[in-house]
Amino acid sequence: MTDIRQLGKTISANAFQCYIRRHIKLLGEFSSLSRSHYFQCVICSNLWQTNAVNIWNGRGCRICSVNRKRTSIDDLHKLGTERGLRLLSDKCMGISTQHTWQCMSCSRTLHIKPSNVRRGTTCKCKKHANSN
Ligand SMILES: [Zn+2]
Ligand SMILES: [Zn+2]
Repeated sequence: MTDIRQLGKTISANAFQCYIRRHIKLLGEFSSLSRSHYFQCVICSNLWQTNAVNIWNGRGCRICSVNRKRTSIDDLHKLGTERGLRLLSDKCMGISTQHTWQCMSCSRTLHIKPSNVRRGTTCKCKKHANSN
């Protein structure tokens, strides 16, 4: 482990920005890891102030981390509707768990992960129709 306090004295703003690059932007001048700075999330534009050491230690944007986790049953219904699928599962078990859907065109029952639905997986009858 690198001693953060030691590092804080020598690290440059560039090195810091480079290290945290992920999707967080340091706003303003970098002074030291133990000082509070403004950060902005490139994805959602959320602006917040925190100790640089928190970001250094891997703390990310709070809004994005909440968004990533929270997929509601409503989101799945919406997602399904966009693909012509009716959601039969009654609760959201996460986007990488298979859910039960019904094709709105042929009434076939399907088991597909929401993450795959998002990527375009849908009922075979639709794929067939689309390719014609
Ligand atoms: Zn964000
Ligand atoms: Zn179908």
